[in-house]
Amino acid sequence: MPSVHVVGSLNADQLLEVTAFPGAGETVLGSGMRISAGGKGGNQAVAAARAGAPTTMVGAVGDDAHGRLVRDELSAAGVATGPVRTTADAHTGLAVVMLEPGGDNRIIVTPGANASLTGADAEAGLAGVGPGDVVLLQLEIPPHVVDHAARTARARGATVVLNAAPAPVDPGCLAPGRIDVLVVNEPEARAVARLLGLPEHAATPEERAPALAAALDALVVCTMGARGAYAAEAGGARTVLHVPAVPVVPVDTTAAGDTFTGYLAAALAGGADDLATALARASAAAALAVTRRGATTAIPGRSEVLRACAASRLAPGTAGVP
Ligand code: ATP
Repeated sequence: MPSVHVVGSLNADQLLEVTAFPGAGETVLGSGMRISAGGKGGNQAVAAARAGAPTTMVGAVGDDAHGRLVRDELSAAGVATGPVRTTADAHTGLAVVMLEPGGDNRIIVTPGANASLTGADAEAGLAGVGPGDVVLLQLEIPPHVVDHAARTARARGATVVLNAAPAPVDPGCLAPGRIDVLVVNEPEARAVARLLGLPEHAATPEERAPALAAALDALVVCTMGARGAYAAEAGGARTVLHVPAVPVVPVDTTAAGDTFTGYLAAALAGGADDLATALARASAAAALAVTRRGATTAIPGRSEVLRACAASRLAPGTAGVP
């Protein structure tokens, strides 16, 4: 059965609830604290597994309590963690997340073991992938490892999905023929467009998605928070698919993008021949995630997402680009 292989970051997320973010030199009282598995890699692996795809994680954690917590939470979510290496030389990646009542967050990440990931780790972890499988990458691990993983996956005939987050600063992973699918939020889309030398006038999402798709020869999905997402296919007509967001009252937007991307990757591994349906499910899953606190803790399961899709009657529409 086609599967999703995530090569990426693993963090312990320390979530602190505050009434307002502290300013310089200021101390504020938090009202709660929780620690759970996170990191874009870990979140997207959990999302793909909850979406129903057999999912494997390739990454690194420290030989510490956070590392064991991350491994246990991923396993409990159904993610195979065999290719997660434990290193004694670094701590498990840590993200300190401050969360305001309105759902805004501020995050400090210290990568720890994620920075120790090597091309050899990626190659060993992807030894079993083949056509039909999806290899899902983000940019929270060293860029040369992302590049190595993408090359390895393509050489084996797998579909490469890159979530270019955080926004890329060098164009390495955007080289021609390296990826099949790009998922980016607004600032990331702007950064990728700049790195590819696209004209500034491709400024609206409707214009940016097809411009990026043509430049990368890839399916490009630009997510827009509560405004939904725009998707454009490689080499296709200059037609942009608009995927509306499901209206919800946001509680915590952490992992909205990760939920969206993990669900999309799972659909692609399942051989989704209807892109609009795959995107609508990703949108419904992400909307459910923003109604809950935390990262992996907020990611919904497949049956719940299918119910939400049916209830909202999500209907992706097309927006023609002149
Ligand atoms: P994050 O960094 O918070 O994980 P992101 O910046 O990568 O998210 P966004 O574009 O903010 O990504 O959101 C991804 C998707 O999540 C959107 O395309 C949308 O489907 C869904 N989403 C995000 N925010 C909301 C919201 N307030 N209401 C409904 N859906 C939302």
